[in-house]
Amino acid sequence: MEFSLIDRIRQRTAQGRDDVCLGIGDDAALLAVPAGQELVVAIDTMVEGVHFPRGTSAADIGWKALAVNLSDLAAMGATPAWALLALTLPNAEPAFIDDLATGFAELAQLYRLALVGGDTTRGALTLSVAAHGFVPPGKALMRSSAQLGDAIFVTGTLGDAAAGLALVQQGGHEDACSTYLIDRLNRPTPRVAAGLALRGHAHACIDVSDGLLADLGHICAASELGAEMDVSLLPRSSALLDLFDDTTSRHFALSGGDDYELCFTVPTQHVAIVQADLARLGCGATRIGRMVNGQGVRVRDEHGQWLEPQHHGWDHFGA
Ligand code: ADP
Ligand code: MG
Repeated sequence: MEFSLIDRIRQRTAQGRDDVCLGIGDDAALLAVPAGQELVVAIDTMVEGVHFPRGTSAADIGWKALAVNLSDLAAMGATPAWALLALTLPNAEPAFIDDLATGFAELAQLYRLALVGGDTTRGALTLSVAAHGFVPPGKALMRSSAQLGDAIFVTGTLGDAAAGLALVQQGGHEDACSTYLIDRLNRPTPRVAAGLALRGHAHACIDVSDGLLADLGHICAASELGAEMDVSLLPRSSALLDLFDDTTSRHFALSGGDDYELCFTVPTQHVAIVQADLARLGCGATRIGRMVNGQGVRVRDEHGQWLEPQHHGWDHFGA
């Protein structure tokens, strides 16, 4: 039984690559890392009901499991190449496997990424994807590389996925804005091309998976600097602004997870080229603040008052 499932996955994800010496079918895959490149590896697990809501379609689950890992590679400035898929399923329903593999393959094809192996077990619906990519030695974008005075940017728009999750939980939304936001939750776009364009221009980079405040906080901690940003500069989609009030959409943009945009820091002399490059790639990049001495992320509201992150939401602590 397990083999026919694996065959279904293999058929749908077939991808010819010269660097795959041996793919799905043996005890392990054999892969040729291109000469002179560093191997970049990342793994993320998604559990139903924890990392995606129950009722998410199989195709969306397959897409998202790969997308979150490609986002990690993007944040390192890596070119994706291969993936492994560890799949735990409550039952072996062929249509479900087919759709899941199809959603995975739709995204994989965009990057000529080859699924080279995995594991299949029975249990609560869980997907672990390990993604592999390449970067020239010394060129990876790390969280620890931000420098004093760097401009802080984010790609795309923030808060859409958190809004999408709220809409899914309310149920019954079929208007265009809701569809857009729910799609942002279920089919995140990993910013792979942006990550590559940032190599050589950006200092530090991270993907926004846990929310901007948390993830920019990781850059601050790793770089031993603070960050100052203006909430009024946060890029928010028109769909988000149409369906949610200002306070809610701002909260989603600051603290909502699952957007998989890139947050990165750029020395001022590279700001113009980075903005032009990312505009050309379509995602754009919005300047939201700068790296300063100190610790942690400080956020100014539209009146110039500092806000401070609390464990559950946001409170003013005075001007
Ligand atoms: P083994 O017992 O040697 O681990 P498996 O039956 O688990 O063998 O796997 C057989 C082959 O199928 C291996 O090449 C493995 O990498 C691949 N494989 C198993 N499950 C998956 C999956 N969910 N996706 C992709 N490849 C898989
Ligand atoms: Mg196995």
